[in-house]
Amino acid sequence: MQNLSYQSVGTVCIYCGAGCGLNVQVVDGHVTGVLPARSHPVSQGQLCAKGWRATDFVEHPDRLQTPLIRRHGALEPASWDEALELVADRFATVARETGPDSTAFLASAKCSNEENYLLQKLARGVVGTNNIDHCARL
Ligand code: SF4
Repeated sequence: MQNLSYQSVGTVCIYCGAGCGLNVQVVDGHVTGVLPARSHPVSQGQLCAKGWRATDFVEHPDRLQTPLIRRHGALEPASWDEALELVADRFATVARETGPDSTAFLASAKCSNEENYLLQKLARGVVGTNNIDHCARL
């Protein structure tokens, strides 16, 4: 029988501001699921339906592995530099032609607090719009 490596990694659920504690189960370097953290002060060993599925996206076959750019009606793999340059150009064009409030930003629960903080700085400080929201409110 093959020896499998096993880890249980303590972390916080990413899906809402409650911040429930969970332990990510990792077998041979692959995320296999979560278990609630019994001693966590917020959740005390419980998770909601979203928390129990908190890692499903990590190795999902539909997860994007590279940026995609639509060319001639079809999505094609692109480098991060190409994709970021295109997004920056499009935001600048829209903001210049129709005003910054013609743009909007939607932050993600799958990003860290720090990444979401930086997104609102980009929206407000660089593009000049307060049109920013977070998927946890949808
Ligand atoms: S387990 Fe549910 S309630 Fe707890 S942080 Fe995740 S989404 Fe929020």
